[in-house]
Amino acid sequence: MGFALNLYPFTYRAKFANGTWTEEYLEKPHGTPESEAAMSAEERGKIENARNCHDDMPLVNYTSQYGLSCFEGLKAMPQKNGGLAIFRLDQNAARFARSMKGLLMPPFPEDLFIKAVLETVKRNADLGFTLQYNPEWEKDSFMSASSVYIRPFTMAEGGIGVNISKEPWAIVICTPVGSYFSAKNFDAIVTDRIRATPKGTGWIKACSNYVISTIAKHEALEAGYMECVFLDATHRKYIEEGSSCNIFFYLKSGELVTPELGDTILPGITRASMIELARDRGIKVSERQIAIEEAMAEAKECFVTGTAAGATPINSLTWQGKKAIFNDGKVGELTSELRNTIKGIQYGALPDTKGWMTKVC
Ligand SMILES: *Cc1c(COP(=O)(O)O)cnc(C)c1O
Repeated sequence: MGFALNLYPFTYRAKFANGTWTEEYLEKPHGTPESEAAMSAEERGKIENARNCHDDMPLVNYTSQYGLSCFEGLKAMPQKNGGLAIFRLDQNAARFARSMKGLLMPPFPEDLFIKAVLETVKRNADLGFTLQYNPEWEKDSFMSASSVYIRPFTMAEGGIGVNISKEPWAIVICTPVGSYFSAKNFDAIVTDRIRATPKGTGWIKACSNYVISTIAKHEALEAGYMECVFLDATHRKYIEEGSSCNIFFYLKSGELVTPELGDTILPGITRASMIELARDRGIKVSERQIAIEEAMAEAKECFVTGTAAGATPINSLTWQGKKAIFNDGKVGELTSELRNTIKGIQYGALPDTKGWMTKVC
């Protein structure tokens, strides 16, 4: 299934004007999940297009012209005991508001965000657009698991002169997803492109950050790698993160290191959760600068984290023609333990002792 667009029928839209948010749930054209599965590719394409297009929205706006917008990514995971649940929803609500403030937009209230996400997933599920738990997923610790991906994002009002967005939309769509990394290997390469600069927008989930990320990731894929890794803009020495995921190195000394947050690193919710889970295991976790030389010489395991990526092992890292192979190119023990723990909690196969999951239906 991968990460292809396959919109579910219900879309949520809220518009800010005159100091308030006006909400609506749009039921876009659809059949039943069964009738749609039986459609020809052409019919499917037509219905997908009808769901994706909103002809009451302005074409020329501060998002389409100047990239002023931000987004979130969450998953509603099919639960072992039935239904769907979302991981740390409150954290995404808070980050969305923070991102909007960072772009000088009126922030979307956190309580509205939580309600909108739950209700959009639920309305789609009520139409049959949902997913069921599959016990087969347990065999590869949920690497092959599917979930309902939820994408909240902003769209700016119409305008052409360079300006901030004062009356944006906040939109929520759902689409089913399978595993994010479909690559044949888990090799990463250090890119010499720069994702984020001090005083920039690297710390918020701004769409504009993804321009460089997308280019660098494409180049990495073309060169036969699964992912690219960015170094800091100032020293060109310290590791920052992947194209859309945070990064961890488990050193031979037993220390688990992830780059400390600043204005060039996105504060991932998976990242924060991994730090907590590793500390629960008695692992020494440091949020600090880590130079590329140190990571290549001292790491015995490496993995990247994010809602889309989950916790994905990195088996090797290439920089300036040199290649460091971690754990003989196999998934490390700590990486797989942490991955099993977080995935187990997310899919309801392990108890949610931290109160991280919110039941949708
Ligand atoms: C979204 C994102 C992450 C991961 O954040 P999660 O909250 O764990 O999904 C990491 N890096 C970048 C650049 C991101 O945009």
